[in-house]
Amino acid sequence: MMTDIIAFNISCLLIFTFVDFQVDLMRVPRMSLLSITNLILFLCGCLSNALNTGYKSYKGYAILTVQPGSQKDMEILRKLDSMFEEPMDYLKEPHGLRDNGQILVSPENLPLVKVFLNDHRIPFTTKPIHIGPARHRRALRPTDPYQLSEIVTSYLSYDDQMQYLDKTAAAFPYTTQIKNIGTSTEGRAIKIIKIGFPSPTNQQKPIIWIDAGIHAREWISYSVALFFIQQLTQNQKYSSVIKLIDFVIAPNVNPDGYEYSRTKDRFWRKTRSKHGDNRCYGSDGNRNYPFHFGEEGVTWNSCSEVYPGPYERSEPEVAALVREIMAYRQDIKAYVSLHSYGQEILYPWGHRTGAYPPDVNDLVGRKSVLTNCSRVSSKF
Ligand SMILES: [Zn+2]
Repeated sequence: MMTDIIAFNISCLLIFTFVDFQVDLMRVPRMSLLSITNLILFLCGCLSNALNTGYKSYKGYAILTVQPGSQKDMEILRKLDSMFEEPMDYLKEPHGLRDNGQILVSPENLPLVKVFLNDHRIPFTTKPIHIGPARHRRALRPTDPYQLSEIVTSYLSYDDQMQYLDKTAAAFPYTTQIKNIGTSTEGRAIKIIKIGFPSPTNQQKPIIWIDAGIHAREWISYSVALFFIQQLTQNQKYSSVIKLIDFVIAPNVNPDGYEYSRTKDRFWRKTRSKHGDNRCYGSDGNRNYPFHFGEEGVTWNSCSEVYPGPYERSEPEVAALVREIMAYRQDIKAYVSLHSYGQEILYPWGHRTGAYPPDVNDLVGRKSVLTNCSRVSSKF
């Protein structure tokens, strides 16, 4: 199953190599997302506390899939948040009337949410959360994270991911460079790896920037980034590509959140900062970028999954990324942020409906290629 996804992703990687995305990185991060999906892996069996002391139990929780039939339904759905003390966790928001949305609902709120939806005649289905193989993958400690087989069969801890980076750099000193670009709230290093043959002219080559895991619970995104690193450094097939282009890959840009989701709460999505008198920990790092900060799609309740932080770049992880991305700004030709959940490829902009970058036709023109990638991915 994972192998299929990886195959999909690497073939898409080659495609992206030739895509010249409009890049204005003060603007891009929240919107220009390659949402590489693994719905099944994400859902199937991520949750358990049976074998993990202190791991939050999601017993009785359910995922509601809602199908808004009109604009009015969309507005009604937005009111759900105000009905409960704790904000709803929208795993996937509906993008228009032909799309569905998915909401993670606690057992306490489930009856009320169902009544609300029935009252407003909004169709929905309910699916309980299952415990499954992801817990097992997390529990597996790789004997040597350098082996591809272990990247694709287990979710590496942050420490193992960093070990993987270090080993890769040691094995391929000619084509790789590691840089520590900053430190997370809890003191973990944010590292990037640059992969490419040295430029024969000493000029900076075009760069493709890929980062992963700003949303902690989207575990598959970290594995995809590691797989890219493995393929670009070890698969001869890509030698010609890395002669022309440098890849800068940040395989874990939210290490605190990731470790928290591995050890405490499978559905943890945000960072682990705590600002002022905020009641809850964490900000949505993906909404913490400077461009049109806080204008759309956010909630100012710190307990919300879409709380953007008290101010732009309040999260040290995001501040580090912006610093580094801006330094490479002139040379970055494509920016891809790996997420999971929802079979979606999102392109800019996201702060306002109908706002597009100048090269939007170029992006849309790649649709058929990307759709083919998506078809491959949906085999699992
Ligand atoms: Zn995400």
